[in-house]
Amino acid sequence: MAKTKIITAGELSAAPGEKKQGFLEVKGTPVKMPVTLINGVQEGKTALITGGTHGGEYPGVETAIRLAASLTPEEVKGQLIIVHPCNVPAFQAKMQYLGPYDGKNLNREYPGLATGTVTQRIAFTVSSMLFPQADFYMDLHGGDIHEQLTPFVIYSKLGDEQQTACAIEGSKALGVKYVVGSVSSNGTFGCAATMGVPGFLAEIGNLGLWTEEEVAQYLAGVKNVLRLLEILDGDVVENKEAVLCDRMVGVDADKTGCWYPCVTIDEPVKKGQKIGEIRDYFGNLLAEYTSPADGVCVYVIRSLAINEGDPLFAAGTM
Ligand SMILES: [Zn+2]
Repeated sequence: MAKTKIITAGELSAAPGEKKQGFLEVKGTPVKMPVTLINGVQEGKTALITGGTHGGEYPGVETAIRLAASLTPEEVKGQLIIVHPCNVPAFQAKMQYLGPYDGKNLNREYPGLATGTVTQRIAFTVSSMLFPQADFYMDLHGGDIHEQLTPFVIYSKLGDEQQTACAIEGSKALGVKYVVGSVSSNGTFGCAATMGVPGFLAEIGNLGLWTEEEVAQYLAGVKNVLRLLEILDGDVVENKEAVLCDRMVGVDADKTGCWYPCVTIDEPVKKGQKIGEIRDYFGNLLAEYTSPADGVCVYVIRSLAINEGDPLFAAGTM
């Protein structure tokens, strides 16, 4: 029997054998998310890919744009839904973390709210319209304007055992070194996990920049995950380098001023080891910060400016 499955993004829909590109409207806001639907002729799983949850994380956005432009229904077994980027207002405003309309971090607002602010409505649109169609979810981030990071991927532990195992396998297939567990539920992939969709949040990139090398690494990794899911043909490349980290521990600022980190990415850190300090505009020490656990530094903030409540550093713990 011929395949009949249809995939949709609001008004946009793609029947088997079709590729459709257009915009997914965020109701009650001026926001329209660029979306590509690719529906293969053959049966298979549905993967959802989002870039640009954070507006200043370009490698993930460019990777999503290139996947959307290049993949065809002929080479896809199953279905692909690609949003490129999803936080359009933050992308256009060149803002780190937050959206320009409401100052909210999209990755803290899931599952969102139909009647909420712009950022909450973006989250609601993705979680209510796209998550239910997905078998696997990849949220592509990448070194915001103030973030130096080593490539890593975070999976959610909030699903059942089988779902978590699937998320770990998918995360490893991305090919980056650090594969970190998480129990957070208000971010993209954590919320998807609570709705039964395994997946991950990936980080490749640095300091609001993007390079061809980073995009090439991302494209190769995402395609490897799509081969694991049997959406693309070909052998899965095994990730022999993968280091499994139980969880991520972070340190946030409790002062506003100037931030002077003294650790760098990929560096092993010990519990109690100094990771940096905040000084005021006159050079006076306001606070010193230490690592809350043994682990390896996966990201560290490099902006001189720091505000109370901002993340400073995070380590993956073994
Ligand atoms: Zn991000």
